[in-house]
Amino acid sequence: MNFEYTQKSIDLQNKLKKFMEHHIYPNEQDHQTYTADPANLWKNYPKLEAWKEAAKIEGLWNLFLPVGYGDLSPGLTNLEYAPLAEIMGRSAAASEVFNCSAPDTGNMEVLAKYGTPEQQDQWLKPLLDGKIRSAFLMTEPDVASSDATNIQTSIKKEGDEYVINGQKWWSSGAMNPHCKVFIVMGKTDATAHRHAQQSMILVPKDTPGIEVIRPLSVFGSWDSPEGHAEIKLTNVRVPASNLLLGEGRGFEIAQGRLGPGRIHHCMRLIGAAQASLDLMCKRVAEREAFGRKLKDFSSIRQDIAKSACEIEQARLLTLSCADKIDKFGVKEAKKLISMIKVVVPQMTCTVVDRAIQAHGGMGVCQDTPLANFWKYGRIIRIADGPDEVHMYQLGRNLVKEKLVDQ
Ligand SMILES: Cc1cc2nc3c(=O)[nH]c(=O)nc-3n(C[C@H](O)[C@H](O)[C@H](O)COP(=O)(O)OP(=O)(O)OC[C@H]3O[C@@H](n4cnc5c(N)ncnc54)[C@H](O)[C@@H]3O)c2cc1C
Repeated sequence: MNFEYTQKSIDLQNKLKKFMEHHIYPNEQDHQTYTADPANLWKNYPKLEAWKEAAKIEGLWNLFLPVGYGDLSPGLTNLEYAPLAEIMGRSAAASEVFNCSAPDTGNMEVLAKYGTPEQQDQWLKPLLDGKIRSAFLMTEPDVASSDATNIQTSIKKEGDEYVINGQKWWSSGAMNPHCKVFIVMGKTDATAHRHAQQSMILVPKDTPGIEVIRPLSVFGSWDSPEGHAEIKLTNVRVPASNLLLGEGRGFEIAQGRLGPGRIHHCMRLIGAAQASLDLMCKRVAEREAFGRKLKDFSSIRQDIAKSACEIEQARLLTLSCADKIDKFGVKEAKKLISMIKVVVPQMTCTVVDRAIQAHGGMGVCQDTPLANFWKYGRIIRIADGPDEVHMYQLGRNLVKEKLVDQ
């Protein structure tokens, strides 16, 4: 493993840092106030489109899509992208500015990898241009969706159409008025082998039969403008050509989708944790209690030291995972993918929690990004598959490996 960044990655890091300093950080408070204001519910921050245009001009666009995608990709490896995602993770306002936000990144990768030329023309192109957004509809309220074989939504072929019926929730991004397309996971054949029952299909958001029942809150916030929707699909009809890859291949697509997409969250969370530690160091150097600066209390120093160690451990693990994906593919990297999924969100919650504590009351209100960073770490412990599921699979694979070795 060699974690020396390439010159290309270093140049982009410098450019990205400058962009963040010029556009994003000075507006962070304003962005937070705007998105939290009920009067602006489901509206994009007014400066977003201008920032996106500026990011395109600077060549800071679609950096997430790895070099293997040829002309569609700006040509970075996952290892080159990791420090860039970390920089974006330092602000909740950033990743969409560079067209590098979830769930679109995963959906774009699915379309780039498995889409037909027609599907790519219709949906991938506007997504890569940042003209529309998308959502991924897998989770269902009625079944434990951490086990995706439980998914009940039916996708039935009728002539040259598929008819979809089911209920989904936690469809992130679906409340955004710019969201135009869903990737829906459901069963095309409930009698097939467990992992061959599921398929994925493209469904335009305005198709008759789609009903957005309600947005779901996250710790009391609507996460506007993206939101997380509960959605009912009743006799939703789409052309048969909207099916991705083929009937029964939903799990295969899910594996392809969730490799790089998962490590992007981890890369960004490291940025959120590092930004929290930086804020903590600044605050404790300024603030005084009981006749001393907070920085001079031993418990605070320990919290800072432990946080720095934990961030660096998580960063190196994540880089190692990115490197393995680049060299050997997602399948070969699956142990490391599970490891970072377990380690990084928990580390982020711990580090951000320490920073919140050191800020006192200021740490939980809108005056710092800390409360949002903590929320981000906490939801990723569930949203990309619960921690326990990653440990369950990692433990199983490690034991299996040992048995083969004997
Ligand atoms: C903010 C947010 C955004 C999301 N965005 C999306 C999205 O865009 N699209 C989408 O389809 N879904 C999304 N999800 C849903 C997410 O993927 C599911 O919540 C997750 O997969 C868990 O499924 P579940 O909620 O049905 O929990 P369940 O499957 O009911 O699991 C509940 C709990 O059981 C425990 N558990 C499960 N399996 C095991 C095991 N093997 N060992 C030990 N314990 C176990 C875990 O603690 C788990 O949290 C999002 C969720 C959140 C919170």
